[in-house]
Amino acid sequence: MRRVTILGATGSIGQNTIDLIDRNAEGYQVVALTGGRNLAQLARDAIRLEAEVAVTAHDDLLDDLRAALAGSGVEAAAGAEALKEAAARPADWVMSAIVGAAGLPPGLAALEQGATLALANKETLVAAGALVMDMARQHNGTILPVDSEHSAVFQALAGEDIASVERVILTASGGAFRDWPMEKLCSATPEQAATHPNWDMGQRITIDSASMFNKALEVIEAKEFFGLAPDQIEVLIHPESMVHALVGHVDGGIMAHLGAPDMRHAIGYALHWPARAPLPVERLDLAKLGQLTFRAPEPGRYPALELARRVMERGGLAGAAFNAAKERALDAFIARRIGFTEMAEVVARSLDRLDARLGPAKGRFDLDNILQMDHLARCEADKVMAERQQ
Ligand code: NDP
Repeated sequence: MRRVTILGATGSIGQNTIDLIDRNAEGYQVVALTGGRNLAQLARDAIRLEAEVAVTAHDDLLDDLRAALAGSGVEAAAGAEALKEAAARPADWVMSAIVGAAGLPPGLAALEQGATLALANKETLVAAGALVMDMARQHNGTILPVDSEHSAVFQALAGEDIASVERVILTASGGAFRDWPMEKLCSATPEQAATHPNWDMGQRITIDSASMFNKALEVIEAKEFFGLAPDQIEVLIHPESMVHALVGHVDGGIMAHLGAPDMRHAIGYALHWPARAPLPVERLDLAKLGQLTFRAPEPGRYPALELARRVMERGGLAGAAFNAAKERALDAFIARRIGFTEMAEVVARSLDRLDARLGPAKGRFDLDNILQMDHLARCEADKVMAERQQ
């Protein structure tokens, strides 16, 4: 029986993971499920799957979680430390599906205890790529990408020598506004941005897809995970979301990975790796589909992609700063304090000011420095937004 933990169990990736585990429940022992505010879902799943422990990220919700679990035998815990402790409990496979930089410390704890880490939380590699990859090496741990594009690259690379890779192409649906006139983007609302044309995902990643901050994070994630040079990673708009990524080799051959836009493919691949198992995902009917289209991202429409290039050139703690400033700008957009197009402006300005103040990042690239930079960048983004409102 495999011992599994799901970090971010109440979210979109978490629920898809539980769906797959449910289909073969006798094969798994659930160690820990974690969530945030959705205690009803967390408690329901923890009781049904007979988890050892259920953890909410919020200390103030501990009593409510205890009440929801009363009499079930499932332990209740709360807070950031409890998340790390849950991730550190011996498990064979840990799904990292917390949203945002909050996923980093528990993900590291899971690697440290030697689990295979199924990584949906892209922020982990954006903020702390080298640290995370080193930790996996040190502990003989395995990280399996769950982001669909990175899972696609991983699958296309099976049996290939990474040295023969010339370029990797990540596809992007273009998000909710791909066909909107550019001048209309400044009036886009959070509700409009949170409607994805192809994928059913959490609110934050869906808005990030519309702004292409999601793709910007994924470009950095690909650089860190596969050890590529920034100029080896390209982005193509592919409105149908059927080709998830392509790997181009030095001989001109290209391996593409296709599949229906359903995260249960990438999650299931990581769950069963290195084997493949039947998955309940739609099979593509290419004849019915008729055609697949691709186009280059329109210059000026997606400033987040340019910011990702800058972050990769800068290296070091720039990824942590970029992600943190982006998270604050996204919070402000969701709260209607800034407009859709202002998100990229706030992030760019925050990075400029951090660069001017701190210069090239010095010191060790360790968790303390990464978390400190995360904090500084959040404060800087808040200041930038406060000044804009004056
Ligand atoms: P959701 O918003 O649907 O779920 C996020 C999960 O994290 C929930 O369990 C939520 O709890 C929990 N959570 C929220 N805030 C915190 C916090 N501060 N500390 C601890 N836990 C917290 O997100 P998704 O499932 O869409 O995405 C999860 C991750 O996977 C993200 O990094 C995303 O970029 C990545 N990803 C997602 C894809 C998708 O298809 N959804 C595709 C590829 C990658 P609660 O809801 O109970 O408050």
